[in-house]
Amino acid sequence: MDTGLRHTVLLQPRVWRPGSPEEAWSLKHTFGTDGVYISGGTLLRTQWESGAAAVPAHLIDLSAIGGISGISAAAGHMTIGALTLLAALRKDSSIALHFPLLTEAVRSIAAPSIRNLGTIGGNAVSSAGDAIPALLVYGAELAMYDGGRTTDVPIADWLTDGGSCPPSNRQSPPHQLLLQIKLPFARSGDSAKGDGGNGHPLPQPAKRFGAFHKIGRREAFTPSVVTAAVSGGLAKDGRIHGLRIAAGGGQTVPRRLTEAESVLEGKRPEPDALAALYEAVLAQYKPCGDSFADADYRRTTAANVIAASLWREAGGARVEEEASCC
Ligand SMILES: Cc1cc2nc3c(=O)[nH]c(=O)nc-3n(C[C@H](O)[C@H](O)[C@H](O)COP(=O)(O)OP(=O)(O)OC[C@H]3O[C@@H](n4cnc5c(N)ncnc54)[C@H](O)[C@@H]3O)c2cc1C
Repeated sequence: MDTGLRHTVLLQPRVWRPGSPEEAWSLKHTFGTDGVYISGGTLLRTQWESGAAAVPAHLIDLSAIGGISGISAAAGHMTIGALTLLAALRKDSSIALHFPLLTEAVRSIAAPSIRNLGTIGGNAVSSAGDAIPALLVYGAELAMYDGGRTTDVPIADWLTDGGSCPPSNRQSPPHQLLLQIKLPFARSGDSAKGDGGNGHPLPQPAKRFGAFHKIGRREAFTPSVVTAAVSGGLAKDGRIHGLRIAAGGGQTVPRRLTEAESVLEGKRPEPDALAALYEAVLAQYKPCGDSFADADYRRTTAANVIAASLWREAGGARVEEEASCC
């Protein structure tokens, strides 16, 4: 056995179980890079086993912190505790009703045994989780605790390097602890900012549409080559409004593709417009490649899946609307 491997196998991290965010943050502050927050441990474990990260000297187990697990509704939004298991999220009927792309995204993650341990918080904070594109199109906010106060940060802002390949030593902002994820309810044809999140005012949509797709190298239980989420509204005249598109997959930090959104905003999902959207995705999306799928393959796959989703979802919604109108 080589010395590095023996060291990893024999290393027994000390496990701490803080009972509050304050205590957890204080431990992290004390240990610095020698201490790591752990929720389900399913991602960390793969990193230790592959050698992508060293087993730390101190594990700060978040599972004893009260009040940051479970799903609830409040005025204007739903709240998902960071420790909520992926399995629980997948089965939640309110999430399925209001945020179906998130249900679909979680369904595509790993397998039941992993979803019974892994949390949505660990997925979001990893910066490469397959749930992130769905969180991006829903305008999710992360309630981050920094030792003094809790701040709600739009996930699109928190992913400051969205669309890039993370450097190998990427870390979340120092010591920050994710407590909750907040998902704003869509108001009839509007978002909290009075637009689609891209500066375009929204008329009342006749239909809302949305889709989430994960493309892997096999049908299920597979790492993602591309994950893409689209959502928007279709006005009575067949024009798309409030379009949101997000893509990620593999090690690429997911991002909103706002330039691609603008190309189709206010247009009908017709072949010319979709061809322009396809080119815009190719231009804006810059995924990382690896030995399984290079960057060009991932970029082309993203453009294909996004254009096809919009053709199917928005085009289909328009046909349905026309059929029911007269
Ligand atoms: C076999 C297998 C298959 C997998 N397949 C997929 C897949 O298809 N798609 C996918 O997205 N993932 C996949 N994963 C990775 C993983 O299961 C998920 O990303 C899971 O959601 C991670 O959650 P966790 O609670 O286990 O995170 P952990 O492993 O506990 O933590 C992950 C990271 O987040 C940090 N962290 C955790 N919680 C917090 C918090 N509250 N505040 C601040 N930092 C925090 C940790 O320090 C760590 O850096 C797979 C894992 C395995 C083992």
